Amino acid sequence: MSTRRDFLQNLTLGVGFTAVAQSLISPATASPAPSKQKPARKLRVAIMGLGSYGTRVAEAMEKCEMAELTGIVTGTPAKAEAWKKKYNIADKNIYTYDTVSQIKNNPDIDVVYVITPNSLHHKHVIQVANAGKHVICEKPLADNAKQAREMIAACNKAGVKLYVGYRLHFEPHTREVISMREGGEFGKIMFVDNTCGFKIGDPTQWRLKKALAGGGALMDVGVYNINGARYATGEEPIWVTAQEIKTDPVKFKEVDETITFQMGFPSGAIANCSTTYNFNHIGRLYLVGEKGFAELDPAFGYGPIKGRTHKGELKQPVVTHQTAQMDGLADCILNNKPDPNMTGVEGLKDMVVVDAIYESIRQGGKKINIAKV
Ligand code: NDP
Repeated sequence: MSTRRDFLQNLTLGVGFTAVAQSLISPATASPAPSKQKPARKLRVAIMGLGSYGTRVAEAMEKCEMAELTGIVTGTPAKAEAWKKKYNIADKNIYTYDTVSQIKNNPDIDVVYVITPNSLHHKHVIQVANAGKHVICEKPLADNAKQAREMIAACNKAGVKLYVGYRLHFEPHTREVISMREGGEFGKIMFVDNTCGFKIGDPTQWRLKKALAGGGALMDVGVYNINGARYATGEEPIWVTAQEIKTDPVKFKEVDETITFQMGFPSGAIANCSTTYNFNHIGRLYLVGEKGFAELDPAFGYGPIKGRTHKGELKQPVVTHQTAQMDGLADCILNNKPDPNMTGVEGLKDMVVVDAIYESIRQGGKKINIAKV
């Protein structure tokens, strides 16, 4: 059986600073000039939650030019010991979930990267914000828009930045499509078709438990459909209709298995999206405008991302997403650059749509209007 690891297949190529800098362009706004400025020091990062993705981020950070792993937050002493040796982490930079508030007085840590199960993000982000450190939080930002708003408010109150780990905003093929759309090369955007999912394995894992996952495929990878449709159109959806399909009510007793949904945008553009935990080989973004098209396939996994447009094959550099993301965020924080389009507010915009999708399903597929964030 294929696994999530197959879906998000690894990619081992490194990334140079130029490639990172080229991807530092916010999709919603005009593109700033790439930065060549290296900061006087690296961004000092602590990872909270040393699981599968935390491990991947730590390994990718070994190739970062502007960010370094200096601390960890873990509930598992054996992992603390192993990571301490592997990454040469000082004892004073090792925390548990109970001691994390003490991170406040630690000058070795600028930012905490929260990579714990979805439903813990709310609590963990607020803990870190209250300790006065910047926060990067994995997707989905929260279980719902209410939690996301509380997290943003806590970070604003503490005067710290909040980012969501939407690594594709630093991925060059994705950036190129966004850049072409911003440059008007597709003309008026008419339609987006995107899919994202995989066949989930182990029935006992936290991703199938509502209390830790918040939801199923929609929460885990459906957020890529929503975020992808938003960066493909450059607009915020104003309505959604959604349908849930469950073929295995035992395995998916607590969370959604497959969801299809449609979104409408102010310009009249529409998006058709599918997300699933029940089959592999889906992960495509297709964008149609009056003057052209773009297709990214695969569009959402670890890559290599591939694609083409009406002008031909996309030949952007292949990067390790997490290396590019961490160098890119370090550049924003240390060089005081404009934020990329992966702030807490961007995460909130996706959560508002998630709420509307679940509401539509509850109401038998009814069209739900989406409030402006
Ligand atoms: P894992 O289960 O592999 O790791 C989660 C870690 O969180 C655990 O190892 C543990 O670390 C910590 N943790 C704290 N409390 C709990 C708890 N009650 N139950 C389980 N673990 C707990 O999950 P992933 O690493 O796959 O996913 C973590 C987050 O990262 C999710 O939000 C997921 O959506 C996101 N993710 C993002 C990806 C991306 O491409 N952007 C890809 C994969 C995941 P410790 O033992 O150190 O305390």
